[in-house]
Amino acid sequence: MIAKSFAKSLHADALTALSKRLRKSHPNYAYIRDELMQKIAGDLGEEVVMKELENLKLPYKFFIFHNLSLYSENSFQMDILLISPYFALILEVKNISGEIEILTNPSILVRTKPNGEKNTYKSPIPQLEEYIYQLSQIFKRHKINLPIFGAVTFAFARSYVKSAPTDTVFLLSNEVRKFIRGIKTTKPILSEDQLEKLKNWILNNNKEYNSFPLSKHYSINPLDIITGVECPTCTFIGMKKVIRNWTCPKCRNFSKLAHEQTIKDYFLIYKETINNQECRRFFHLQDKHDATRILKNANLIVTGKSRKTEYTMNLLK
Ligand SMILES: [Zn+2]
Repeated sequence: MIAKSFAKSLHADALTALSKRLRKSHPNYAYIRDELMQKIAGDLGEEVVMKELENLKLPYKFFIFHNLSLYSENSFQMDILLISPYFALILEVKNISGEIEILTNPSILVRTKPNGEKNTYKSPIPQLEEYIYQLSQIFKRHKINLPIFGAVTFAFARSYVKSAPTDTVFLLSNEVRKFIRGIKTTKPILSEDQLEKLKNWILNNNKEYNSFPLSKHYSINPLDIITGVECPTCTFIGMKKVIRNWTCPKCRNFSKLAHEQTIKDYFLIYKETINNQECRRFFHLQDKHDATRILKNANLIVTGKSRKTEYTMNLLK
């Protein structure tokens, strides 16, 4: 069964906000757009593979997790993990279309598009090997003798693996269930109780890596970020506050709740804390009571009193 179901990563939301609010003339703009595209493609690929796994049936108990960040010798992040009484399996999901060559020494993945254009990416093999090693150290500490397998899984059939080392398993998403059913099982290593305990340990120890605000993560000067409330109708940034409403100078639409996304954007990409003055600046407000109202109604964590009041958002709930 699915112990942790598919969820779009917050990092994708944050990159979306950043690519909307970063000036197009910024030297990192193209890089951020590229990161966003890769993240969206990655999330889509993981969703497709998780869909396949929702229908997995096995004659023994098992748990599947999407997107786990665990800490062993260091933090590591697995796209998909399956645990069972017989084995554990890590799936490293790739959504890269075109002709793919996995080269070693140095390890890179080369993709050739139908028009002949080539791109290089990190090879998934050392990544997968590292995750297997890190998970094996966790198992060792808990005296769990479960063998750990790994497979690189391409989400879509438009990926064609032309050449790859033969000692790594490469799958297409529609082969995943068959591959898992084919893993040999003789004697269970964990009892159902032990498996349940391991599942709970994993869920309790999953801590999403906090890369927010992204301006810090990508070393972007917050002053290069476009401020203002985004219009939910036409995406123009810079709505004007009128009584009980926001109005868009571009498309003339009104919105009562447009500031809600802007608050989230602020914490995802701009700064960890906000005070009244920063709120007025970011939301283009004249009146400090408007800012107070917005901050008080946003379900934020409050620290300090009166003039020193600051607010922060718990992004990784
Ligand atoms: Zn508008």
